[in-house]
Amino acid sequence: MYSAGKRSEIMSKIGSKDTKPEILVRKILFSQGFRFRKNDKRFPGTPDIVLPKYKCIIFVHGCFWHGHQGCKKSKLPETRKDFWMNKINGNLERDKNNIYKLEGMGWRVFVIWGCSLINDTNEVIYKLNNIK
Ligand SMILES: [Zn+2]
Repeated sequence: MYSAGKRSEIMSKIGSKDTKPEILVRKILFSQGFRFRKNDKRFPGTPDIVLPKYKCIIFVHGCFWHGHQGCKKSKLPETRKDFWMNKINGNLERDKNNIYKLEGMGWRVFVIWGCSLINDTNEVIYKLNNIK
């Protein structure tokens, strides 16, 4: 058992690099026999998962930060709405650019939303199997 302080220290070290949904997707991929690279800085947007064998890239996006449209989890806070809107729109623009660049380099790009991992992992497994 860790103390609260130690736990939050660990959590902050993990940071955005290894958020839970990403870990879950990697586990699913690994169990399906996929081999991949993580957080590959050589590509635009430092993709969460790169599958060289299939020339395929996967982003696992948190619904809030990446502005998942029509998703309950992407609802903006009531306070400082403009600030959040600008921030999320900036992220959206960056994501779009990265995907555009990656596709231009001949890669297939998949986006898996955080909420789809909470509701139905089967859907994600189905999607991942289409990579092969
Ligand atoms: Zn969502």
